[in-house]
Parts: sequence; structure tokens; C-alpha cells
Amino acid sequence: MSVGELYIVATPIGNLQDVTLRALDVLKEVDCIAAEDTRHSRKLLNHFGIDKPMLSVHEHNEKQRAGEVIKKLSCGQSLALISDAGTPLISDPGYQLVKAVTSAGYVVRPIPGVCAAIAGLSVSGLATDRFHFEGFLPQKSGNRLEHLRLLSQEVSTLVFYEAPHRIEAFCSQLISCFGEEREAVFARELTKSFETINYGNLSEQMAWLKSDANQQRGEFVVMIEGYKQPESGEGLDVSAIQLMDLLLQDLPPNRASQIAAKFFGKKKKVFYDYALTKKS
Ligand code: SAM
Repeated sequence: MSVGELYIVATPIGNLQDVTLRALDVLKEVDCIAAEDTRHSRKLLNHFGIDKPMLSVHEHNEKQRAGEVIKKLSCGQSLALISDAGTPLISDPGYQLVKAVTSAGYVVRPIPGVCAAIAGLSVSGLATDRFHFEGFLPQKSGNRLEHLRLLSQEVSTLVFYEAPHRIEAFCSQLISCFGEEREAVFARELTKSFETINYGNLSEQMAWLKSDANQQRGEFVVMIEGYKQPESGEGLDVSAIQLMDLLLQDLPPNRASQIAAKFFGKKKKVFYDYALTKKS
């Protein structure tokens, strides 16, 4: 029995010239293209003069479609999986399909290309030796804050995806969990006409978002500098530490740091970092 292969093909996230030559070859050669949204992907395929049978594979039918894909592979057909943009499976459907196909013993080949998270990281100026990809946070506000709090002392650079209608609320949630001073990079509309990469701490990011409604449009990769462990009380003298310890008995870290910073006429960050070491 001849055996087909499944190709996981990355497509552009904006600029169509970012498609790879190999991706085009594979898409032209396979028997069928599985896509998250076939109508959306047809536009891309038409642009490159590719006309193939298509199969819709999205988060609600992935398991069921896996059976059909495996059947086609067993008949010797080759298939490609694409998503609406970027690399399939990265905050996109495909996980159940790849798992089922590999478990059934068929070959799955990557055709690598663009991924918004990697494109964002590459220009972030933040540490890239280690990063923690979070993608989209859960949608419920309480769950989001809980999730962010768990990440507040993660030392790797954090990478999030966020939708434009939630970006301002997201920024304020980031501030409440990481503090205003944490460095961040907001990468908007990467590879598109209005590509903007905004550098600065979280309070500067918030000011930027509020300064111009246009900056809240489009797609975002949000990257946050990893937590830097301060020496306990580094930069604080004994009286500052005493006041902080007293305030922290009754107040949350953010409020305690605000009061102490005002009292001593120093930057809030050093107090806030101290508060976080006390909490951990
Ligand atoms: N699979 C895609 C990838 O490889 O990046 C991600 C798909 S996910 C459903 C879509 C999210 O990716 C958007 O909400 C946004 O956070 C991010 N994204 C996609 N394209 C982008 C772009 N051109 N600029 C910035 N972020 C983008």
C-alpha cells in the first residue's frame, strides 16, 4: 500500500511575500488542503494560482476529521494543513489531527515559516534565550488575573497573543499583576502596512494605547520582560524595609509600595520588588 504524508504548512501573517517557496510547492503538489476556514484560505490560494480540493478542519470537528484524513493518507494521498495565518497548531487548530495521524503511524512533515510570536520576539530586544509562550489567556476576567499572577515571577520573557478589543483591559491586568515598571514590547500588525513595535514599560504602553485609538486596532503580540529577582531589600535602608514590612501586613504589594515610595521620595519599583520577595 502506498502511503501519503501530511504537511503542516506555515502561511503569511500579513505580507503575502512571506510565504516560502517550499510552502507553495507543497500546496501545489498535495491532493487536498485542510484549512481552518476554507473560504479565508481560498483567497490566499487563489492569489498563488492554487486550486485544490479543500477540507475544513477547525477546533469543533478536528477529531472527526482526523479519521477522514487518515483514510486519505492510507489511500496514498498527501495532504497539507494550513491555518488562517502563520504556523498551524500555534494558537490554531491541528493538535488533535497531528496527534491522531502520528499515532496511526503516518509521516507528518513541517513546512516552516512565519509565526507571529517568533517575529515579535525577534525584534523585541527582550531576552530570547528562554521564553514562555502563553498565547491567548482564558477569556473570563477572574481566570485571566489568576493566570497572570502565577506568571508574575516567571524569569523567561513572556509572550501573549491578544485581540484588539481586549488590548487596553489586558494592559491594565498586566499592570496589576506585574507592576507599572515591568518592561514590555507591544508588536502590532506585524508585516502589514501599519506595523508598529512599541517599546517601554507597562505604564508607557498604557499611555501609548490611550493616546491614539488607532493603536488599539489590528493584531497584537505582547511580550513582557521576565521577572528579575532583586536582592531582598536591595536599595532600601533599614527604615524603608521596616515601613514596608509594616504596610505589607495590611496592604497589597502595589498599594504598600506606592505609599512607601511617596514617603521616601524613591521609585516605586524597588519597593514593589521587595514586596514580591516577601510574598514568595
Ligand atoms: N498561528 C498563528 C501564528 O503562527 O502566529 C497565530 C494564530 S492566532 C489565532 C492569531 C493571533 O496571533 C492574533 O490574535 C495575534 O495575537 C497574533 N497575530 C497574528 N498575526 C499577527 C500580526 N500580523 N501581528 C501581530 N500579531 C499577530
